[in-house]
Amino acid sequence: MTDSLIRKAAADFEAKFGYAPTGVWSAPGRVNLIGEHTDYNQGYVFPFAINRHTFAAIALREDNLVRVGSSFSPTLHEVPLDSITRDDKNDWAAYPFGVAWAIAKLSEVAGSGFDCYIESDVPVGAGLSSSAAIECAVGVALNELWNAGLDKKTLAKAGQLAENEIVGAPTGIMDQSASLLGEADHGVFLDCRNLESQVIDLGFAKAGLELLIIDTKVAHRHADGGYASRRAACEAGAAAMGVSSLRELNESNLPKAHDLLDNTTFRRVRHVITENQRVLDTVRTLREQGPGAIGALLYASHESMRDDFEISVDELDTAVETAMRHGAFGARMTGGGFGGAAIALAPTERISEISLSVIAEFEALGFAKPEIFAVSAGPGARREI
Ligand code: ADP
Ligand code: MG
Repeated sequence: MTDSLIRKAAADFEAKFGYAPTGVWSAPGRVNLIGEHTDYNQGYVFPFAINRHTFAAIALREDNLVRVGSSFSPTLHEVPLDSITRDDKNDWAAYPFGVAWAIAKLSEVAGSGFDCYIESDVPVGAGLSSSAAIECAVGVALNELWNAGLDKKTLAKAGQLAENEIVGAPTGIMDQSASLLGEADHGVFLDCRNLESQVIDLGFAKAGLELLIIDTKVAHRHADGGYASRRAACEAGAAAMGVSSLRELNESNLPKAHDLLDNTTFRRVRHVITENQRVLDTVRTLREQGPGAIGALLYASHESMRDDFEISVDELDTAVETAMRHGAFGARMTGGGFGGAAIALAPTERISEISLSVIAEFEALGFAKPEIFAVSAGPGARREI
């Protein structure tokens, strides 16, 4: 799959632009193993880079023009490098344009224009960060071709800056960090307060475990409003507790929070405090006992999002419960909530039973057909050819 997409990116570049690219660079999507709604509270997250990639075939031009195409869309977008701004007309090209703009800004190199063609097998909108995969594939390519000299942490910042300033999405740095820093069968433990990261052995492959993605295909219309109100509750909770972010609190502060906050705000705060602790516990458990022992933490994360943060929906609960009944060590919803995907950690030999059971259960309940596939933890962004 990967080899053929590399060749396809190069061939489609040549068909579109009439000459061969200088190279093809890739970057993976990511899944967040644990640490949900902790990032904007300055807390901990623990994602890993997955074995699904976006490929960018690229060559520099002698002039200032940037042209980008993708198998995802028939439209070729172009803009002079020094005229990149936030503009609805950019559409999906805001991601590659934004990264070019951000790398030029952060490195202060006077890069030339370039032609770029994108291929990808990262599903869009399944919570696997197809957006960071584009940013990071184009980012590592331009960093090399322009001799911009940015390290991976700064490249992650460039991706975030592109998304914040040129795409116009107020996202954090988790996705880009995972896509750039990932390693085979390792996760990226990230502290969102100081952006320090550690690559941690997952041991899934050695233990014969896989992570199933169960995309419920549910997209609720109140997802945006629900996300905004959860963020607001976290900010209100931190302010009432007299701290700059919920990261400053831990489980010993829960009794005081219970006395001080209204019941809803208290439960929002409790989710964030306990979720941060679960990320730390997951990292420690992996080191001390291995991946077979982290299932209870994943499931506790789900219960906390369902009951305290109240962002789950029937489809996600059904996916999680069915996976648990059929041999998953742990399962939980991921992402913003009100739809999207659940993950389930399970031995390889139980994967097909779990998948078939979830599909049957969804059908019995009259839910839309979910999309289910296994992912493994793979290496981060790199040059392919
Ligand atoms: P995700 O969770 O997948 O990152 P986002 O909404 O953040 O969801 O990003 C998805 C957007 O990224 C798409 O709407 C599109 O604009 C862009 N995108 C993702 N993959 C591709 C691709 N292969 N080619 C072009 N644009 C893409
Ligand atoms: Mg995204």
